[in-house]
Amino acid sequence: MSKPSYDLVVIGAGPGGSAAAIRASQLGLKTAIVERDRIGGTCLNRGCIPTKAMAHVAHLFRDLSDCGRFGIDVSPARIDFDSMKAYCERTISQLTQGLAQSLEAAGVALVEGEAKLLEDRTVRIERGDEGCELSAKNIILATGSIPSIPPIPGIDLPGVLTSDQFLAKRLRPQRLLMIGGGVIGVEIAELYAALGGSVTILEARPRLLPGMDRDIARSLQTVFKNRGIKIHPSALVESIEQRRGSLLCRYSIRGEEHIEEADTILCAVGRKPNTEGLFEGVHPEMLDNGTLAINETSQTSLPGIYAIGDLTAGSQLAHRAQAQGIAVAEAIAGNAHTDPMPKNDAVPSCVYTDPEIAAVGITEEEAKTLSLPIVISKRSIFSNPRSVITQSERGIVKLIANAESGQLLGAHIMAPHAAEMIGGSSAAIANHLTVSQLTRTIYPHPTFSETLGEAIKDIAGKIN
Ligand code: NAD
Repeated sequence: MSKPSYDLVVIGAGPGGSAAAIRASQLGLKTAIVERDRIGGTCLNRGCIPTKAMAHVAHLFRDLSDCGRFGIDVSPARIDFDSMKAYCERTISQLTQGLAQSLEAAGVALVEGEAKLLEDRTVRIERGDEGCELSAKNIILATGSIPSIPPIPGIDLPGVLTSDQFLAKRLRPQRLLMIGGGVIGVEIAELYAALGGSVTILEARPRLLPGMDRDIARSLQTVFKNRGIKIHPSALVESIEQRRGSLLCRYSIRGEEHIEEADTILCAVGRKPNTEGLFEGVHPEMLDNGTLAINETSQTSLPGIYAIGDLTAGSQLAHRAQAQGIAVAEAIAGNAHTDPMPKNDAVPSCVYTDPEIAAVGITEEEAKTLSLPIVISKRSIFSNPRSVITQSERGIVKLIANAESGQLLGAHIMAPHAAEMIGGSSAAIANHLTVSQLTRTIYPHPTFSETLGEAIKDIAGKIN
């Protein structure tokens, strides 16, 4: 049987795979993308988009419930959870249609089914009893990640969910116990509490968001406590059991035993590369953490086979996967203007809590571990005019620069719309700009970003 042949076959139509396929096709490569589920991947269907849509509703609800201080009097706001779910589904569907149109407009062939990588750059696709094989000069693996499930007795009980399962459910805020105070944990905890749920977080490490700046994580902890979210750091979860309609979670903190009762337990302790069943007769080199070993062009140990996004080491973020996918497509097409692979230190990472958190580059702790000569500037947004106008709760801008070269190394922001503010710092780090160069930037008044401007002037003044 003859196999249709392509210049590029992409496995997985999440943000990374789709971006790679669209760019490759635009550059003239005959491209197919294979997807076993809905296009858009975790981000669009079970991750970023549904969480941010739910957070949007939750924050509107909190603002409405708290608008008396601005002179607005509304009768108690009430949420219709069915309408909220319908709005989230409409949002996903609108974005999915947009993605389908972009793939079609670029001329990418969308093949539905479960793909397996075989020898000789062949991809077998199974759909029910049907199947076909494609051959390709190049293949990009972009199958993303799945939630990690820790080996805790009772973790498979009904009512103990991963974020994928949680976001697919119809929300009814009750007592939620969150295992893991990382990015997923804090985003869902905050929106769930804003919607009226009672939330407790168990975090194994001594603080929330262990990968992010310490001052910002502490500040978020204070915000959470003020809102009634209970946080138990350094917690070791031992078991979960079901009793009289509730879930009982046993955990210990420094040897002391505790029990927490909940209606739902959400386990958000990280995600692992999704490679199950992906390979048949081929064995690309894997690293100890289950990611695929890749070189500087994202090529695996198998020639012509590339891996991007959550399958590779680095931050598990949609925009990193997209940038990586586009760079691989450009490289395969031999484009002279190839975008370089994204460097991890220039990939911004955002947490969509209220207030938002956004960061790019290294943290103070990482700089100290690397023994880098650094200077730091830390400013509160407390007296920022926009902050006073909007009566914003708390916020920090923290910058880290190299004390010798003056280059900006890290920017960490907790403020309303922080995710919209981080782009300038990301551009500065990607282009190795110095804080002295950044002092030329004029920030509009009144904006939260004026505090960033103050921090830049402050840190520049500390460098000789
Ligand atoms: P994470 O690595 O951010 O956090 C997991 C947390 O669980 C860590 O703080 C860890 O210490 C803790 N933990 C691990 N085992 C535990 C245990 N047994 N008991 C208690 N705590 C335990 O992972 P995540 O929150 O699951 O998110 C997965 C990935 O998805 C991350 O890489 C994240 O960056 C990405 N993501 C990004 C966004 C965003 O960009 N806004 C949103 C959601 C997820």
